[in-house]
Amino acid sequence: MQKNGIVGAGGAGFPSYGKLTDGAELLVINAIECEPLMYTDYTLVKEKLSDIVAGARAIMEFGHIPNAILALKAYRAKTLGLSDGQQLDTGVKVKTVPNIYPMGDEVNLIYQVTGNLIKPGNLPITQKVIVYNAETVYNTRAAIRDDQPVVEKWLTIGGDIPEAYVVKVPVGMRISDVLKATGVEVPEHYVMFDGGPSMGIIKNPASDVVVKTTKALLILPDDIPAVVNKQRTVEEHLRLAASVCCQCTRCTDMCPRHLLGYPLEPHKMVRATLSTAQETPELIRSASLCCSCDICGTFACCQGISPMTVIKEYKKILAKNKIKYVAGPDEEFHVSPDRDWRMLNSGKWKEMLGVARFDKHPTYIPEKLSCDQVEIRMSQHIGAPSIPCVAEGDTVSLGQMIANAGNGLSVPQYASISGHVTHVDDTKIIIEA
Ligand code: SF4
Ligand code: SF4
Repeated sequence: MQKNGIVGAGGAGFPSYGKLTDGAELLVINAIECEPLMYTDYTLVKEKLSDIVAGARAIMEFGHIPNAILALKAYRAKTLGLSDGQQLDTGVKVKTVPNIYPMGDEVNLIYQVTGNLIKPGNLPITQKVIVYNAETVYNTRAAIRDDQPVVEKWLTIGGDIPEAYVVKVPVGMRISDVLKATGVEVPEHYVMFDGGPSMGIIKNPASDVVVKTTKALLILPDDIPAVVNKQRTVEEHLRLAASVCCQCTRCTDMCPRHLLGYPLEPHKMVRATLSTAQETPELIRSASLCCSCDICGTFACCQGISPMTVIKEYKKILAKNKIKYVAGPDEEFHVSPDRDWRMLNSGKWKEMLGVARFDKHPTYIPEKLSCDQVEIRMSQHIGAPSIPCVAEGDTVSLGQMIANAGNGLSVPQYASISGHVTHVDDTKIIIEA
């Protein structure tokens, strides 16, 4: 994993080797994809199940992990011809979960499939669990079998376009080239999301590139709630929060992390925008427990406030000062008895975001898309940036290492096409075919 540049493909980008510590009793292969319109992991499971299972077996053997589950939403498992409890290999089973948002969140998923709660700020390994995204496990298999580093990315191309696709592209391919190759345009009054409509971010297709954590490119009209909320400035969000919150507490009542017993209360964060006297150290620290699902805003708040945006501002301060909430060994947390009936159905969530009408089953394109230029970023993962080890003018071939791992938690980078290096700096390497 370390040598081949494998990082969490589900969006976080945590170097995967960093999770593989002793003591795990369960490997969870996360193929939940709880964000609407996403079919990347679904397609991977459909097309490459045996590779994912082989990757899981390799991880289990290396880490002495006796059991693994492939976690899927029940309705998707059914479409794939898989059923809850189905044995895929020795110690590897299918586990289905209900169609709930945000079930792909590691903390929610682990509680759902094991009944054990990860204490706030603790890692899954404290409950003897390791979670990897399905594509991460697939990449591990490719690394072991073919000595192939991470040089390609699986993506959903979807949204308000005639046909949706799942494609494979070289890491570093320009997003404009991906859209051109699939005949997709971003018309006036539309935006492009990198990621799902809830947690994704609006990106500029003309200047951005595919990185190891890119999971979907969605073309969405700019007048639906999913986009309108993201286009407001932080100042507008804060002004709204400070002016119209009626402290109904609905945002807290519906927060999936709060329902798990975490001391996260978004209504109090919103209240703190009115008066700094409300800003206790405990309140500010609790911001680090938010998973940015946006249920508190788009679903819960009847005033159009986004508590998540307020919380993100606190998170920035915490990150800058390297502070986070970490529960002590003796602290106890209790899952709310209301959780079962307050969990948000994904179909409802899709409606609230205004994207339900764009949900269509994608066409899988098995041939990798080609391009004549890639831009490999040095920070595609959490941790230290990679350090270039090639120079302008060098000739490189597909799969050749072009950047070493940085100091500490980090991974190397590899050429995703063969060609000449035309640009190198601390942040990126450009290769032309
Ligand atoms: S749901 Fe909206 S109005 Fe109610 S407490 Fe939360 S932010 Fe305030
Ligand atoms: S975004 Fe809102 S609902 Fe989601 S975890 Fe954070 S505070 Fe809770």
